Amino acid sequence: MSEKLNIVLFGPPGAGKGTQSTFLIEKYGLVHLSTGDLLRAEIHAETELGKAARELMDAGELVADHIVIGMIKNMMEAHLEAKGFVFDGFPRTRAQAEALDAMLNAKSEPITCMLALEVPEEELVKRLLGRGATSGRSDDQDEHVIRKRIREYEEKTAPLKDYYQAQDKYKGINGVGSIADITTRLVQAIG
Ligand code: ADP
Repeated sequence: MSEKLNIVLFGPPGAGKGTQSTFLIEKYGLVHLSTGDLLRAEIHAETELGKAARELMDAGELVADHIVIGMIKNMMEAHLEAKGFVFDGFPRTRAQAEALDAMLNAKSEPITCMLALEVPEEELVKRLLGRGATSGRSDDQDEHVIRKRIREYEEKTAPLKDYYQAQDKYKGINGVGSIADITTRLVQAIG
């Protein structure tokens, strides 16, 4: 069995994945892989990929599977020494989940578990509009775009619950409460 701790941190936009990733990577010495952060770095660097991604992100739509899968593959190859990864915002579609399993199974380092932060929609919208007021993230400033992202999540990403449940790896976590309380729940679920 692999000793590596590979966690999929799952949940809708605004569920707190980025915040909780920070604690998990410190506590367990893991590498954080956020496709949202990687895409925003491409936008910042004004690459061709960044320009194409920005249009989709600003419309609240998903970026093409092959792009995000390629980014994750490169980052995993750049961190062969890692004790494990926290995947944040990835996988978001079934094709991404299958590609991730193929990459990890080839190394006999499978996903340990999916930790799914559960938060009601109205709370998500409130949190994201609050973040948009201070973070400068354009996709957080428009309620229409926020609701579109939540719809995309429900249609394309939420079904991954079944994918991981079938592997007995899904763990639902109450994502409402203080940041510290939610961290405690995640640590307990990791066991
Ligand atoms: P949030 O989950 O809060 O919406 P992210 O930073 O994870 O924020 O993602 C922002 C945007 O980046 C998404 O709305 C989507 O357009 C794009 N994106 C991020 N990760 C993926 C992915 N795995 N597949 C496709 N698109 C992605």
